[in-house]
Amino acid sequence: MTNDQIVKWQCDKCGEDVAGSEGYLSVDMPAVNLAERARQEREIHPDTPGPRGLELTPDTTGQPQKVQWRVYHSACDPDSASMSYSIDVADVAAVSRILAWTLHFMDTKNWIRHTDWTSFVRGRTGVDLREERT
Ligand SMILES: [Zn+2]
Repeated sequence: MTNDQIVKWQCDKCGEDVAGSEGYLSVDMPAVNLAERARQEREIHPDTPGPRGLELTPDTTGQPQKVQWRVYHSACDPDSASMSYSIDVADVAAVSRILAWTLHFMDTKNWIRHTDWTSFVRGRTGVDLREERT
């Protein structure tokens, strides 16, 4: 691919650029698993509230909140011991790589829908079709 767009990632803790192997994108997997269990509960018992502890705060659309992707330097991660799914920044340094990861998620990771991957990527890259297409 020619003219591949370089993506600069900024750390959510210190605000500085994260380059190469200095850091990663990560998402909290226990929170994702909780969201998946809550979804299954809603499917089985659509009219009853889920078991205690499985209710996520709904956002303004009434949908459960998405688990947020974050960007950190390894040294800035406030919860580096957590069970996160992470991608090295070096591995998402161009738009073509983000596309490749998005395809990977669509093919193999059902849980991706419980995360804010699409709005996260839109916000961080400016890549968006929403004003052009329905
Ligand atoms: Zn940082």
